[in-house]
Amino acid sequence: MSKKIIAGNWKQNGNLKQSIKLARDIFASVKKNKYKHEIIIFPPSLYLLETQKVNRENIIKIGSQNVSAYNDGAYTGEISSSMLKDLSVKYCLVGHSERRHIIKESDKVCSSKAQRLYEKNIKIIYCIGEKLSEYKCKKTKSVIKKQIQYIFKNIGDQINSKPNNIIFAYEPVWAIGSGLVPTSKELLSTFDFIRKTVDSAGKKNKSIKLLYGGSVSPDNALSLLKTKYIDGLLIGGASLDAKKFIAICSTI
Ligand code: PEP
Repeated sequence: MSKKIIAGNWKQNGNLKQSIKLARDIFASVKKNKYKHEIIIFPPSLYLLETQKVNRENIIKIGSQNVSAYNDGAYTGEISSSMLKDLSVKYCLVGHSERRHIIKESDKVCSSKAQRLYEKNIKIIYCIGEKLSEYKCKKTKSVIKKQIQYIFKNIGDQINSKPNNIIFAYEPVWAIGSGLVPTSKELLSTFDFIRKTVDSAGKKNKSIKLLYGGSVSPDNALSLLKTKYIDGLLIGGASLDAKKFIAICSTI
């Protein structure tokens, strides 16, 4: 069985001291318990270097929550993919619902960011998912189909050349931070649909991993990880609590 991915998105939370402590607690537990999963944390960009120092033994992977859609140049406040590469960052989130809906990043911007990351061989966790209004109108599948098709239309060649550099994370917007999770029936049907949509977009896509994100907790992690086609979890709130995150890492 290939490794499951357990990824923690810390978002815009904490300070330097808290970030180092959280990273230390996670590293210590992962080192001691040798979990079977691939564990990735996404600290705030300002704390990437300090959390990397704690992870000198490369026990877990450290990723960036964001990247610029542009190469180096006059883009005040942005962080380029070459800067991430310079820090040996291995993963980057793209298309998270908070960036799509609060910062108003379009599919076009998301695909440019993914392209910059492909150019630097940094792995992408590409988030997709429907809003509550779309869920209520039964538009889940049409929304995610459009999001998946857009990225393949724009960077399909890069994805086909390195399919394992992209991972899709299905995160229903209404499930993020709400305590709500789709029913098992909904998850089975949606992941079956995502699997088929991704697989049909390229010959080598069967190895592309699919994650679930949205109100994951130690209580629901096991059943989520056992759901067909779910290769791992993207965790927000619970990843800020070392005990909860470690409990999720020790699932299965
Ligand atoms: C997220 O923001 O990616 C997320 C899944 O958040 P939460 O786990 O808090 O719902």
